[in-house]
Amino acid sequence: MAKILNIQNLKKSYSSGSKQLTVLENISFDIEENETFAIVGPSGSGKTTLLGLCAGLDQADSGSVELCGTLINDLSEDQRALLRNEKVGFVFQDFQLIPTLTALENVAVPLELRGDKSATKVGKELLEKVGLGDRFDHYPSQLSGGEQQRVALARAFSTKPDILFADEPTGNLDEETGKRVVELLMELNADSGTTLVIVTHDMELAKKTQRILRLKGGRVLETINA
Ligand code: ADP
Repeated sequence: MAKILNIQNLKKSYSSGSKQLTVLENISFDIEENETFAIVGPSGSGKTTLLGLCAGLDQADSGSVELCGTLINDLSEDQRALLRNEKVGFVFQDFQLIPTLTALENVAVPLELRGDKSATKVGKELLEKVGLGDRFDHYPSQLSGGEQQRVALARAFSTKPDILFADEPTGNLDEETGKRVVELLMELNADSGTTLVIVTHDMELAKKTQRILRLKGGRVLETINA
């Protein structure tokens, strides 16, 4: 099986004032195409930081990240953005919807940017699928946290990415909606072969993936088959 993500010896620190805070150290793992993979660990263990490095949203101090066959360390921000637009989906913890666009427009944007004439039609289908068929014209401020989460998921699904990174995708949802979102993620993996990399506190969700990486204090404790 081909590797879609290969992380070697990653280190990341943040500077706060005169202090350097190392948040990730000695991180190595890889993920195969079509795999479903969870990253778990206590709050502050570096999960969100690691996800951002894997997706090329941020850069490590040292080590290497190979994503979709490309070594992304030395790419410019523009080159990394291009790779993300073509092959990568990301669901942010705080959704990052565009506040001036309706739910439907938010979902259609990635496809419109690709010149896809069916953007609106696909957007409607995806919103129906996540249970928001009656919210097409609502703006993010008119939606609950859980509804915004589902719009963000529909937007990430729209381009059928090779790999989808999701940061706490069920974090803001009630149990029933959370279950539906997990089903949708697994469907995306089964139907489109999208590799899933999910940061979660939810062990029920983690156990539905094939492998779980446990992070503690910025280091990998273990990687286990779920
Ligand atoms: P988790 O997702 O596991 O809760 P994070 O990756 O969000 O952990 O954070 C790991 C550590 O890095 C925390 O101690 C956090 O305070 C710190 N951190 C995260 N982002 C920044 C930043 N931009 N600047 C400084 N410190 C940060």
